[in-house]
Amino acid sequence: MSQESYEGICCYCNEVVTKRTVGKHIEKCKAKIVFDSQFNNEKNYKYFSLLVEATYGRAYWILVEVSSVLTLKKVDTFLRDIWLECCGHLSAFSIKRNEIAMNKKLYDVYQQGLSLDYEYDFGSTTDLKIKMLAQIDSSDEKPIRVLAINKKPEILCSSCEKILSVYDCTSCGEQVCESCAKTHQCFIDEGEEYIAERVNSPRSGVCGYEGQNESIIKKYFPKEIPNVL
Ligand SMILES: [Zn+2]
Ligand SMILES: [Zn+2]
Ligand SMILES: [Zn+2]
Ligand SMILES: [Zn+2]
Repeated sequence: MSQESYEGICCYCNEVVTKRTVGKHIEKCKAKIVFDSQFNNEKNYKYFSLLVEATYGRAYWILVEVSSVLTLKKVDTFLRDIWLECCGHLSAFSIKRNEIAMNKKLYDVYQQGLSLDYEYDFGSTTDLKIKMLAQIDSSDEKPIRVLAINKKPEILCSSCEKILSVYDCTSCGEQVCESCAKTHQCFIDEGEEYIAERVNSPRSGVCGYEGQNESIIKKYFPKEIPNVL
């Protein structure tokens, strides 16, 4: 899949964007928005824009703006809420394999263009890359806001290779369609509890992950939660 086809949704206007065009689009889209606190100039927070991607599934991506004074621990909570949390596994941020303490603030680690590595769960690990894009002046008070997020990637059924998959097999990690699920060997041998509906997250089908909790994630979005989640 080429970069262009990594489609997502703009969280301000719900238009379809791609990972390549999202930056330009957001600039135009944000210019039309008047933030509630626009005139509250004594609180001119600085933000960083970050591109979060799944290291081994680049179709999963989030463009997010994060207040520069947040700790990595808060970013960790965001990542868990939006994509990862199943049973409270350990996690870590690192740069070139050197772990960075969770109590560091983003401005302590920020360097334009730098990528942070992030791991959730040291057993069945989900690896993310967090690319630090630009510094932004903003008077919006939301500490974290998602600007755009990928659409659920379409993955062909690994059995028939004809129909789009709807389930993950949490035993072998393959994706299967509705009808192939009935004859999938793991489900026959090990039982139906290994079938999980595929969700829009790089952790879909891993460990006990079941998708986002809307009441937890709604605070991250400038408007409604986009319908891709
Ligand atoms: Zn837009
Ligand atoms: Zn788990
Ligand atoms: Zn199939
Ligand atoms: Zn299987």
